[in-house]
Amino acid sequence: MIIAIDGPAGSGKTTVAKLLAKRLGIFYLDTGSTYRALTYLALENNLDLSSAESLGKLASNLNLKLQEGKVYLDNKDISLAIREPRIDKNISLVVVHPQVRKTMIKLQRNLAQRGDFVVEGRDITTVVFPEAEHKFYLDADAKVRSRRRFTELKDKGLKLKLQEVEKDLSQRDHADKNRKVGPLKISDEARVIDTTGLTIEGTAREILKYLK
Ligand code: C5P
Repeated sequence: MIIAIDGPAGSGKTTVAKLLAKRLGIFYLDTGSTYRALTYLALENNLDLSSAESLGKLASNLNLKLQEGKVYLDNKDISLAIREPRIDKNISLVVVHPQVRKTMIKLQRNLAQRGDFVVEGRDITTVVFPEAEHKFYLDADAKVRSRRRFTELKDKGLKLKLQEVEKDLSQRDHADKNRKVGPLKISDEARVIDTTGLTIEGTAREILKYLK
């Protein structure tokens, strides 16, 4: 069984997906972390992010392992490094390349093969798992989403201005919704949940209600 969740940054999907997987006793896959790992590697290698060819090659040779909530690249733990603002600022350039998406989608499908999964991202209900048994789209007011992301970064000890986070988030929203391949959109079959006034627990409860 696949429970597919899409939505913009700060909609709560990562935290909710984790909680759901725990409650249901199934696995969890954050597909954003695969694109983040690729962006991290591209930046470490000073690659030209607009080069479809070098990014495509990099994706094909990516040695990625997701284990117990951690992300390993060539056996190095990069879980924290992929959450840094420099990744948020550059990732939109990396994820637009069709060859990159093709390779990453294959990787994501392989990762979610070994059992029941909650999978979250931007194109999970529409492209990666269009046949998923359960589909959800989480959204929230942009101000609230920025505030959540700001708090998350602050908790990690990163000092950013709220306005800066708002700007980054709105740029990422625009890029995610308007790219040609695999844009963020609401599947006709997805249940839309507005998490603006909901806690993580409340959102999970809402989803669980539909699963019953
Ligand atoms: O979910 P998260 O915010 O970590 O994702 C980071 C970025 O990765 C998104 O802004 C989006 O550009 C990209 N992404 C994607 N497709 C997915 C998951 C994430 O393009 N399935």
